[in-house]
Amino acid sequence: MDRLFHARGQGLPDVLRLRAGGGLVLPDAVCRPGDAGEVAALLERCSLDGIRMIPWGGGTSVTGGVNIPSGPEPVVSADLSELAGLVDLDVRSGLATFDAGTTGPQVEAALEPHGLTLGHFPQSWELSTVGGWIATRSSGQESMGYGRIDDLVAGLELVSPAGRLALQATPGTAAGPELRRLVTGSEGRFGVITRATLRVRPRPEARVVTAALLRSWNDGLEVVRELVQAGVPLTMARLSDAAETQVAMAIGLASSRLGGVLRRYLDLRRIGEEACLLLFGTDGEPWTVRSTLSCARSVIRRHRGAILGASPGRKWLADRFRHPYLRDALLDRGFVTDTFETAATWSQVDEVRATVSTAVDAALDQFGEKTILLCHVSHPYRDGTSLYFTFFFRSVADPEENISRWATAKRAATEALVASGATLSHHHGVGSWHAPWLEAEIGPLGRDILSIVAGRLDPRQILNPHVLTDPTDRLEE
Ligand SMILES: Cc1cc2nc3c(=O)[nH]c(=O)nc-3n(C[C@H](O)[C@H](O)[C@H](O)COP(=O)(O)OP(=O)(O)OC[C@H]3O[C@@H](n4cnc5c(N)ncnc54)[C@H](O)[C@@H]3O)c2cc1C
Repeated sequence: MDRLFHARGQGLPDVLRLRAGGGLVLPDAVCRPGDAGEVAALLERCSLDGIRMIPWGGGTSVTGGVNIPSGPEPVVSADLSELAGLVDLDVRSGLATFDAGTTGPQVEAALEPHGLTLGHFPQSWELSTVGGWIATRSSGQESMGYGRIDDLVAGLELVSPAGRLALQATPGTAAGPELRRLVTGSEGRFGVITRATLRVRPRPEARVVTAALLRSWNDGLEVVRELVQAGVPLTMARLSDAAETQVAMAIGLASSRLGGVLRRYLDLRRIGEEACLLLFGTDGEPWTVRSTLSCARSVIRRHRGAILGASPGRKWLADRFRHPYLRDALLDRGFVTDTFETAATWSQVDEVRATVSTAVDAALDQFGEKTILLCHVSHPYRDGTSLYFTFFFRSVADPEENISRWATAKRAATEALVASGATLSHHHGVGSWHAPWLEAEIGPLGRDILSIVAGRLDPRQILNPHVLTDPTDRLEE
């Protein structure tokens, strides 16, 4: 069971293969190092014996990052769950040092008695870990206020086959190129992140997420852009396109009150089909929350949006880590669903959405399938925003055929993203599934730099050689 549990991550083909019970390559062993010394010893042994090692945080990778590649070499999955906990807390500086295997709930539980929070809440928060977040450059749902994990890392330790790299916490530095950033996003290719010092803040007294309806996607984009560029201190803004808005209504995000307001709104403006739901929120002391939300509402009203109140936001907060479980329920009912994400500048964003949507439609059309594609904006920046897509198609009896259809759609979407100048991934990372397209984004020299660093830190290429720099298409493995 332990080897089976560590065979795959949580991407769609992983779930399909695990449910079907076929096409699985298992690790030869699962190890649980308890400290950095044991990680170093394990790496040394693996290097000597030519054993591949795959660091395992929470196993929530959706890019094939923790999947066991097929091949003649033995493979060890290094589960870091015993390398967990709060190691040091500097309350005055707002710095907390955690071992890498600490999960989201463990982080917040350790900080709560001190009145502190990290504020990093990816949707996989229940299972994912500090080391996994850093390795994949994760972004939490409140990144607009708290920043992405890149912004929260003050210092870290990496244990590689070539030795230990300790980068002390510093508020700012000009001591050469930023090596912390080099490790952030290295996806286990450069070594095992064993410990990290993270920037923490006082726990907010109040957290409010509230909702509005905008007349159209473009109106919504303008509102979000204006809010972020004007520096309104929101911690989150999530704009759903019209299709996702309708799904949100159907699965009950909207209360009956919202339903009533929506109907009146639609009657008044006759724009029902195009209405887009905006959830926006902030936290802090109650008076700052009130003033921030009032600022945001005035921008929304200027764009003739309808303010819906806090009830949809409360529902979203209560359910935000539960939505992914719908994937299993949908599979049981004959629908395959997956997500992918990107980021683009404000000038590109509309074209990227249109191009990607056409590409996914065309890819699944070959199988006679009509795709449902939903899109939302959830991590806005001053210069652009993330775009998060969810697509659905009907499943067929053969799981391999479902994987092949998914891979066709995924290739088409990824090629469209790269061709339209958007990034390969905003927060899921590269893993092995996106690796064939990395060179298109960073160029051959960029890929060489990563390979050279990996070669110096891991000369025997035992650590995750299937991620980042390996151009093999592994979508159907
Ligand atoms: C339902 C669902 C929702 C998600 N939502 C989000 C989201 O909102 N935001 C987001 O950013 N991501 C999201 N993800 C993706 C995933 O959770 C992130 O990539 C997360 O950061 C992975 O953390 P993990 O601890 O599970 O890492 P794992 O999945 O265990 O590992 C990911 C990669 O990092 C490597 N790795 C893990 N730990 C270490 C370490 N200590 N040192 C070196 N390498 C390591 C692994 O070998 C692997 O290549 C979601 C995934 C799922 C399944």
